Amino acid sequence: MPPQERIVYGPVRSRRLGRSLGINLLPAGTKVCNMNCVYCQYGWTRGATRYRAHGTGWPTAQAVATAVAGRLTRAAETNELIDRITVAGHGEPTLHPEFEDVSTRLREVRDRLAPGIPIAILSNSTTAGWSAVRRGLAVYDERYMKLDAGDPITYARINGAGPSVTRIVDGLQGLPPIIIQSMFVTEETHQVDNSTEGPVTEWLKVLELVHAVAVHIYTLDRAPALESLRPVPRRRLREIAEHVRAAGIPAEVFAARGSFRA
Ligand code: SF4
Repeated sequence: MPPQERIVYGPVRSRRLGRSLGINLLPAGTKVCNMNCVYCQYGWTRGATRYRAHGTGWPTAQAVATAVAGRLTRAAETNELIDRITVAGHGEPTLHPEFEDVSTRLREVRDRLAPGIPIAILSNSTTAGWSAVRRGLAVYDERYMKLDAGDPITYARINGAGPSVTRIVDGLQGLPPIIIQSMFVTEETHQVDNSTEGPVTEWLKVLELVHAVAVHIYTLDRAPALESLRPVPRRRLREIAEHVRAAGIPAEVFAARGSFRA
């Protein structure tokens, strides 16, 4: 999937978020992330773009506010249905050097022009321990935070890079209510597979530490960076969800619609 070229895109139909108006805080056309997930729909994280927090090209808070205000005004004029305003884009939005300011301005625009629409963010959780990012995350109505593995070996195989699982869990603790988003993937050789019993057991252990209000379990729906990757069968996703519920945490399964065919 090519990176976004604009600040505002969509609304896109999301399995989990409904008609979601996407907000991209990343530099146009360039994936910027500090993870390298095997399932990333934007392909592999490349050297120079691996982590460019202080590089050029990031949209200013004013540019984001202006773009979102224009789009919400147009939506109101045409009675367009939008279920959520979601900060996501082609990389990790919290790496924006002025993430807190951008988030505050986004909320102000939403409050003024579309007070009934929740603002949400999808984050890979790696920066959740940074104080300015924590303040920025607190601005949102809904926080969807990634946690795909609980042990270092599976984490390295699935997410490729980033701080340790321990640091991620520490960062997630104490945030305002979070929903954990966990992608499960498999491979015929099972070399990359977080859906088998061992990795799921380790994931459940860390899940209990982060005090999530819910867990969203899903699998591949779009072509991944690693071509040999396959979606996890719906039945296995349901079993994983049962384990989560047994731990007292609400869980929902979002199986693939079938747009990605392995
Ligand atoms: S965290 Fe998101 S953007 Fe970054 S590599 Fe993983 S899936 Fe792609």
